[in-house]
Amino acid sequence: MLRKTAIGLGIDRLIRSRFGGVGAMIMMHRVRTPEPNRWEGNPGLSLAPTALESMIHLLRSEGYELVSLDEAHRRLTDHSDHKTRFACLTFDDGYRDNYDALFPILKQQNAPAAIYVATGFIDGDATAWWYGVEEILNRDDELVLEMDASEQSFTVATLEQRQQAYDTVCSTLRNADKKSHLEAIARMERRYDLDMKALSQEAFLTPSMVRELAEHPLVTIAGHTITHPSLRGMKREEAHREIAGGRQRLQEMTEQPVDHFAFPYGDEEAVDAGAIEVARSVGFKTTTMAVGGPIQRNNDLAALPRIAFDAEDDLIDLRVRLSGLGPALRRLRR
Ligand SMILES: [Zn+2]
Repeated sequence: MLRKTAIGLGIDRLIRSRFGGVGAMIMMHRVRTPEPNRWEGNPGLSLAPTALESMIHLLRSEGYELVSLDEAHRRLTDHSDHKTRFACLTFDDGYRDNYDALFPILKQQNAPAAIYVATGFIDGDATAWWYGVEEILNRDDELVLEMDASEQSFTVATLEQRQQAYDTVCSTLRNADKKSHLEAIARMERRYDLDMKALSQEAFLTPSMVRELAEHPLVTIAGHTITHPSLRGMKREEAHREIAGGRQRLQEMTEQPVDHFAFPYGDEEAVDAGAIEVARSVGFKTTTMAVGGPIQRNNDLAALPRIAFDAEDDLIDLRVRLSGLGPALRRLRR
């Protein structure tokens, strides 16, 4: 209520004039209306088409100019006067709805956007196994995770239990070492007669969609590694293979240079100084995090902040985040 009143009075604009920096990069994932009667493990990832349109309208009415990542890079490097704040719309991972639902909206609104594509999801070299976990939870009222010598069983009679089972199983699988992880997934596929790879590929773009998107002047295709790992603590060669290899594959797919990159997960838990150095050495114009606030003039181009906007947020959340108040308070506390 207080927030709403403050926004109504335009207090966020006042704060933004002091702390709102020179622009903002907005991080989103999927654009779709969730299927009715289907339970989803991570509904926040799916922004409704109308929510995206309202958000574009808000940015423009607040005086932001929507620009491509190349144009943002130009403004950040050539001593632009930054009279107008810029905003970049960015979408992570490479979901198929970015072609089906986002692309028509971009064309209709004449809005540029970047899609950060993890190539393994497109090529089937990496599996978005969490869609398999979600599928099991939609079909069954019990979920069993067999990992190494142990067996964890979840009863899912209520929505709360279902969410808890999903969260626990996903976090166990994410944190397991590679061998245990792959074995546990294979056992799950056998037990539930599921093809996780096929399910995963249905959710992501195809190579020809990536190419068609890249050919459109409003769309920038950008890197997001091959298999979407957490890069923290990863050996330099392996991190380089993920970052440079993903870029190379996208360049083959699109026959265009790929000059921008976003860190998978993109928070302090997943990105360390070593990962930033590897990305810097690969030579992108910009690389982005998944956290932070508005872009400030002196930000490191190899670790630019982004502002998240998802299905659980409203336009007031966005205005608060654009104001830069949160990061300003954090700087004060330090
Ligand atoms: Zn991602």
